[in-house]
Parts: sequence; C-alpha cells; structure tokens
Amino acid sequence: MSTYSLDQRTAHWTELKLQFNSIFEAAPTLYRAPGRVNLIGEHTDYNDGFVMPAAIDLSCCVAIAPRKDRQLVVHSVNFNETIEFSLNDGKMETTDHWSDYIRGVAWALEHAGHKLRGAEIAILSNIPIGAGLSSSAGIEVATAYALLEISGLQVERTELAKLCQKAENDYVGARCGIMDQFIACHAQAGHAIMLDCRSLNYRTLPLKSDVCLLISNTMVDHHLAGGEYNVRRAECEEGVRRLASVLPGIESLRDVSMAELDRHRDRLTDVLYRRCRHVVTENLRVTEATAALQRDDLNCFGHLMADSHRSLRDDYEVSCFELDVMVEIAVKQEGVYGSRMTGGGFGGCTISLVKEESIAHLQHAIAEAYEEKTGRRPEIYVCSAAEGVGIAKC
Ligand code: ADP
Ligand code: MG
Repeated sequence: MSTYSLDQRTAHWTELKLQFNSIFEAAPTLYRAPGRVNLIGEHTDYNDGFVMPAAIDLSCCVAIAPRKDRQLVVHSVNFNETIEFSLNDGKMETTDHWSDYIRGVAWALEHAGHKLRGAEIAILSNIPIGAGLSSSAGIEVATAYALLEISGLQVERTELAKLCQKAENDYVGARCGIMDQFIACHAQAGHAIMLDCRSLNYRTLPLKSDVCLLISNTMVDHHLAGGEYNVRRAECEEGVRRLASVLPGIESLRDVSMAELDRHRDRLTDVLYRRCRHVVTENLRVTEATAALQRDDLNCFGHLMADSHRSLRDDYEVSCFELDVMVEIAVKQEGVYGSRMTGGGFGGCTISLVKEESIAHLQHAIAEAYEEKTGRRPEIYVCSAAEGVGIAKC
C-alpha cells in the first residue's frame, strides 16, 4: 500500500525547484493544477448530463521562467526527459509521447490568438499517472496557465478549460469530455462542483471539513477498456435515435425522463434499455446528491453512491470484479458514508466518502482485505477537496 502524506505533498514543490535549478539558470515561478475525482455522475458527460467532480490535493506543478525567444524547453521530472520546440513551428505533429500534451496546449492557445512567450519549464506531478485521476488535465491546465501568466495574458477559466480539452481531443487524440479540465480550472477548496455538461453552468457545493475523499486504486489497468467505452457511447446514441422517433425534439438521454423511457421500452432492446436507464437514473442521482450536499446529508449521499455503483455494474456493465470487491470492502467499514467506482470503469479507482477520524484504520483494513481477495496490492490516496489552478503556495 502506498499513501501520500501532506509533508510529501509540499516536499514535492521543493524537489521541483531543485530540479529546475539543476537544469536552468533563471529563477522560476511555480504554478499548480489539481487532479480530480468524480463523486457521482458517471458516463453522463457525453450524454449532456450532470457530473459532480472535486479537485484533489494531488497536483501537477510547473516551474517556469520566460525566455527572450519563442523556444519552449520542457523537462518532465516524472519522465526524466527534456524536450524542445519552437512556438513558431505552429504545426501539428502528434508523437504519442508525453510532450504532445505540452505541444497541444501551446498549439490550442496560439490558435485561439494568444501569442505566447518562449519559456523554460520543469514539471513534477504527484497525481498518479494513468490511474484515472486526470494527470492529463493536471499537466494541460498547469502548463497552459503558466504559459499565459508569463506571457502577460489572461483567459477566462471556462475558456481555458475548453482550450485544454481541445488540446487533448484534437492534438493528443483522446476523446475526453470537459469535466477534468473544468474542475481543474474552477475548483474551490473544500467543495465539489455540480456541472451541467450541456450548458456548462455549475454549482459549488460544500463538503464537510471532517470528510475525506479516500481513493482506492484497484491497480487494474483501465486503458484496456477503450473499446467498451466507444461501444457504450454508440449504444447511448442508438437509444436516442430510437427514442427520438416517439419523443421528437430529444437530443440526448439528458432530455428523457424515466417515465418516458418506460413508456417506450418496446422501442429498445433489453441491453439498450438498461444502458439508457443507467444514464437517466444517474442524472437523477446527481440532482439528488446536490440537494443532499446542500443540506449536509452525507448518509443520503452515501446511499446514492451505492445506487450509482449498482447501476454501473448491472445496467451499464462497466464495473469489474476488482472494483466490486473494493466497494464491498469499503462499505462494510466503520466511518464510510458511501463508496463507488469512479471513472470510466473496468479498473482504475473507487471513491469513498469517509469520516476523517476513521482514516487511519480504514486504509489498512481496506488494503489488507483487498489484497487477500484479489492478490493485488492497492494504492490508497487520502485526499481533501482542493482548489483549482493557480500559483503554487510553497
Ligand atoms: P490520467 O489522466 O488518468 O492520469 P491519461 O492517459 O489521460 O491518464 O494521461 C496520462 C498521460 O499524461 C501520461 O502518459 C503522460 O503522457 C501525460 N502526463 C501526465 N503527467 C505528466 C507529467 N508530470 N510529465 C509528463 N507527462 C505527463
Ligand atoms: Mg486523462
């Protein structure tokens, strides 16, 4: 089991400064952007629905100093590698390498008319990479924000999120929604956000100060599930297409109520009906979860997390043995309000809302029971809800 202590989290900025100074001569400024976890609202984003992410206090930190020319020299401490290119290149050259995230962000900003200065950059992230906690949005948003700051430019935060999403969609070639970049830009410490993925309207929701976000990594690689993700998206589109013949005007499953879905069940196969039912009920759950947080009712929130997990497991069929085991173990423990898989599924992480006082015993109990049942050693990250991109206070 590995955990990050708060001390290690601050030491991470000191380490980055040291690394920057060993490569470059100028004095850097440090910026950071957080990873995130989705509390509820899974597979709803591409159906124009609702999601509820919180930023976590694991982040990508960027040390940056401007140059006189238009070269970007970028060192990733995580990958121990330095890359260099000119902002004057302007061309799109996807290389399937981490530097695509940097090139993509620079490309998206410049294409939107933001003329950037060259810079020397070192990057160090303590967001686990590839675990579903959005180290990708972390690196995009931190780098974009840092580049804009040293260029004396300001971009509104929703616009910044959209440009970073564009970098990931169009340059890196990953088909992600807006949620990760949006929360990395807009998060407030101690709060989650309820985001309407259609309008991008959002509501900031308080999380009790004695509640921790306990994230358990099953250590099952969720990347293998890319094909299934595309199948689910196609199934939702097919559901909308069939329902639109009797419900004219609907554009996505967001527009369908449970009563309408049941009334027109005969238009759908059993599989399509269950896929649609997950999305329709999940949107309802996010709405109910929003109300629960507004009245500080974490027990109710926990029940909604349990329902969400069941729906993802049985109707949407995106869970797996390890995720189910992790959730089953967590919900049996004292001090756990609720637990569910988070992210696309087929592996990756679970999120549990937990009383702070129970953390110490929980980490060990969950890790031990999980390893015994699956033979895999989990990583457990104890997080609190952090703020969005900004200057690193260190
Ligand atoms: P996730 O967002 O779930 O962590 P992704 O596959 O979307 O997983 O993004 C991970 C990729 O983002 C890495 O493979 C790497 O290319 C890039 N990346 C993230 N953090 C860093 C970093 N600190 N340095 C360089 N590249 C990074
Ligand atoms: Mg990602």
